[in-house]
Amino acid sequence: MRAVSVHRDVLVTTSRLWQTNAVALRAGDEAMLVDSPYFPDELEALPGLLAGAGFEPDALIATHADYDHLLGRLAFPGLALGLGEPSVVRLHQEPGAAQRALRDKDDELYVERPAPLALGEVQTLPVPGSIELGPEELELHPADGHTSDGMAVMARWCGLLCVGDYLSNVEIPMVESGLGDYRATLARLAPLVEAADTVVPGHGTPSTRDEALRILDEDVDYLDTLERGEEKPRLPKGRDSREQRKIHAENLARV
Ligand SMILES: [Zn+2]
Repeated sequence: MRAVSVHRDVLVTTSRLWQTNAVALRAGDEAMLVDSPYFPDELEALPGLLAGAGFEPDALIATHADYDHLLGRLAFPGLALGLGEPSVVRLHQEPGAAQRALRDKDDELYVERPAPLALGEVQTLPVPGSIELGPEELELHPADGHTSDGMAVMARWCGLLCVGDYLSNVEIPMVESGLGDYRATLARLAPLVEAADTVVPGHGTPSTRDEALRILDEDVDYLDTLERGEEKPRLPKGRDSREQRKIHAENLARV
């Protein structure tokens, strides 16, 4: 697991699975963890790694209800998980789906866990809305289209924007919910990216404002080719692999 400090008050850890990012941030004497790493050894090492860097989370939140973002309580079982209201709705509509998907992925990768995923008592967060972290405020913005739920977390005081599974330098848009929703989310994210110094995607490398704006443009172009139904489009540089073509084929089948 890689750990990179992108601001005095922000530490990004990156899992070996899909470069999944978990973001620790602090303000005053409070800290929070957004999303999670995946592998048991990463989850076990996380509390010590964060504490060593001066981050001891008082709260957990997840950008959306896909299992690879929900594992924070496996590292911090004493903390409640905060989810945007659309994610809570999704969990109620698909009871046990996240746990099943996690089990399937674990089986595929031969991963054994000391304990199954228990989401415990989930705290419902207002989206759009805001929550407090110490003396500061985290803005929660809707980000659906990848899935039916999703929120982007903006920490203006430190120039940080966590977007969940959007604006990735390693993954093309995965359109699981709706092309129109996905487009609307990119349009909503654009001014937030403009106001940020660092953008952390759910998967991939944290980017500067300019890099994130370039990815956003590429993603808008990609959605155009998807809407036209092109079977073999040119995918953005750095994301033109067999795996990404597989994701494109799945997108085509869905839209
Ligand atoms: Zn993800």
